[in-house]
Amino acid sequence: FDQMDGLIWFNGEFVDWKDAKVHVLTHGLHYGSSVFEGERAYGGEIFKMQEHNERLIESGRILGFTIPYSVEELNSACNELLARLGYKDAYVRPIAWRGSESMGIAAQKNKINVAIAIWQWPSYFDPEQRMKGIRLDIAEYCRPDPRTAPSKSKAAGLYMICTISKHAAEAKGYADALMLDWRGQIAEATGANVFFVKDGVIHSPTPDCFLDGITRRTIIELAKRRGYEVQVRAIRPEEMEGFSEAFLCGTAAEVTPIAEVGPYKFTPGEITRQLIDDYSAEVQPKRLAAE
Ligand code: PMP
Repeated sequence: FDQMDGLIWFNGEFVDWKDAKVHVLTHGLHYGSSVFEGERAYGGEIFKMQEHNERLIESGRILGFTIPYSVEELNSACNELLARLGYKDAYVRPIAWRGSESMGIAAQKNKINVAIAIWQWPSYFDPEQRMKGIRLDIAEYCRPDPRTAPSKSKAAGLYMICTISKHAAEAKGYADALMLDWRGQIAEATGANVFFVKDGVIHSPTPDCFLDGITRRTIIELAKRRGYEVQVRAIRPEEMEGFSEAFLCGTAAEVTPIAEVGPYKFTPGEITRQLIDDYSAEVQPKRLAAE
């Protein structure tokens, strides 16, 4: 991936994709002091960019560091990079991390670096599988208690358990893993939030120890706009027995129907289809919708 053609915005400069490198003694690499975002551009506009870049700054603040750019500066950098690359539909990855100015856990003197990469990433899950609904395993690792990790930060360190869980699921032939939280309640997938449907009512776990996704909030809004009742609450895994539809949502995953979670089976249905359509319409730039 590091040998592609392109440009990367790196601490205020546009550098060749292949030259965007860091030193091996980077604090972010040794001690996980890194936060990032995942955004998507549709038709040349980044969907909810303001919210994403605000969350990047907030993620850094939770880890105790100040990103040395304002939201406006980050927004301009994302837009300018997208324009220079000439992509209409693309994935945007801003990242901030503590640098290599000193070595050791304490790193007050280390520079906070920021980079933005943009590339074309059409579908997170296999598109053919996607409409049939994907199969998820139940992860062995749990989302941690917020007292044991900065669970509200989109911190790279929290993705350690996601990668382990995703690899374990893929090794067993699943597309992804559903993670429970430390109480045994349903939390989220390794890179997306989860929703269920039963008797026309939509259910989603309370995001009290995992990311309250920007897509998740958009889906709740779209479902309410259609007049659906949305219950955000603690959901026990056994309840999956009674749910008819299930889907994941996230910036990369968009809205992806689920066919199975471990022993539980779902049939992608009307509500999932409506929300897939509503979401695709919602992410289109308003100037295109007006044409
Ligand atoms: N949970 C996790 C662990 C994620 O990585 C993501 C993707 N950023 C989400 C949820 C969904 O968040 P969003 O809708 O803001 O992309």
